[in-house]
Amino acid sequence: MVPQWVIEKKRDGGTLDEAEIRAFIEGFAGGAIPDYQMAAMAMAIYFRGMTPEETAVLTDAMMRSGERVTFEGWPRPTADKHSTGGIGDKLSLILAPLAASAGLAVPMIAGRGLGITGGTIDKLEAIPGYNTQLSIGAFKRVVAEVGCSIIGQTDRLAPADKKFYALRDVTGTVPSIPLITASIMAKKLAEGAETLVLDVKCGQAAFMRTLDDARALAQSLIRVGRSLDRKMGAVITDMDQPVGRTAGNAVEVIEAVETLKGGGPADTRLLTLELTARMAVLSGVYGDLETARGELSRRLDDGRALEVFRRMVAAHGGDVRVIDDARVFPQPGATVEVFAPKSGTVAFVDAQKIGRIVLQLGGGRTSTADVIDPAAGVDRLVQAGERVEKGQPLMRLLAKDAALAEPFAAVAAEAVHMTEGPVPERKLILEEPT
Ligand code: URA
Repeated sequence: MVPQWVIEKKRDGGTLDEAEIRAFIEGFAGGAIPDYQMAAMAMAIYFRGMTPEETAVLTDAMMRSGERVTFEGWPRPTADKHSTGGIGDKLSLILAPLAASAGLAVPMIAGRGLGITGGTIDKLEAIPGYNTQLSIGAFKRVVAEVGCSIIGQTDRLAPADKKFYALRDVTGTVPSIPLITASIMAKKLAEGAETLVLDVKCGQAAFMRTLDDARALAQSLIRVGRSLDRKMGAVITDMDQPVGRTAGNAVEVIEAVETLKGGGPADTRLLTLELTARMAVLSGVYGDLETARGELSRRLDDGRALEVFRRMVAAHGGDVRVIDDARVFPQPGATVEVFAPKSGTVAFVDAQKIGRIVLQLGGGRTSTADVIDPAAGVDRLVQAGERVEKGQPLMRLLAKDAALAEPFAAVAAEAVHMTEGPVPERKLILEEPT
C-alpha cells in the first residue's frame, strides 16, 4: 500500500477497499504512517465521507488495534449503554446496577468529562476510594460477582483511536460522522457487550445540535454495530436542558443514589428506565418494553438496584458510607444561593450556561491535564414547569470558596428563563431511530 495513493483516492471521492483501510490504520497505530499523512486522510474523509461499509471496516480496524474483552460462554447476557454526553447526565450510575439487578451483566468502560460535558469516571471518583483503573481481569471479576462494573478507558483498548482522536482534535476533523462513529464504536465494541443502547443527546449543550445531525449519527452507529453482530438500540434525547437537578460530580452521585432509592427527579428516573428497558428487551430478559418498565421500576423502588450499586462501590474499594450519608463526599468550601429576580413559571433551564458555570466553578476541565474539584457544581436546580416566586432560590452554586462562586450568580439566574404563560411538557425522548 502506498499511503499517498490511498489518500488521493479518498480525496477524489473514491471508496476505499478493506485492505487499504486496514493497512492505513495498522500503519498509523504502529508508527509507519506519520501524523501528516493520517491528518490528510482525516481531512479527505471529513469532506468526502465514507460508505457504511468503509465506516464498519474503519471501526473494526481501530477496535483490533488493541486488547479486546470477551464474555463468550457467560451465563448472563452482556449489555451496555453509551451516551454522547451532556449536562447532569448521571444515568450510567443508575442504569448499570439497575440492569444488573434484572439479570444482565454490564461491563461499562466510561470516559472523563471534557469541556462542558461531564464524565461518568469523574463522578465515580468523587466517591472516596473508588478505583476506576482496574485491570481487565479484575474488571471481569467484578462484573461476574456483582453484575456490573464501571471503569475508565485503558490505553490498551482501541489505542489507534486515542492517537487518531488527538490528531483530529488539532486538525479540525472531529465533526465527521464516519470518524465519530468509528471512534465511539471501536472503544465500545472492544468492551465485548453483546447489546449496546445509545443515548444520542441533541441540543444546544450537546455534540449534535440538530435532530438531523443526531439522527444521522445514531443511524451510522446502529448500522456499524449491527454489521459487527451487536444488538443495537438508540434514542435521541433532549440536551437543551440539564438532566435532573444537579450538575457536577459528587452532587450527581448523590442524585443518582436518591434515584436508586426510588426517589430522584422524574426526568432522571424516566430516562434511566427507558434506556435500561431497551437493554433488557434487546437482550431477551423481558419480552416487551412495558413489562421491562414495570419490572425495572420495582427494582428501583424496593432497593434491589441500590444493593447492586453498594456492592459495585465496595468491589472498587469505594467508601459505601456515601450511600447513607452524603457528608462523606468531599464538601465544597462555599455554597452560594441564586435567587429568582422575578416571579413566574420556569420555561427553560439553559444547559449550556449551566455546563459552563460548572466548568468554571472547578467541576470540569478544559484540557485532559486539568484536575477537577469533585465537590464543585450546581444542585437544587429548578426544572421547567415549576412555579417560582421572586426571591426564591433557583439553584445553589458549590465551589471551593465564595469568591469563586459569587461572580457566577448573575449568569446562573439568567440560565433560568421564566414565563407567565403555560409551559408545554418537556419532551425527553425526541426520536427513536431504528
Ligand atoms: N466521542 C468519541 O469517543 N469520539 C469522537 O470522535 C467524538 C466523541
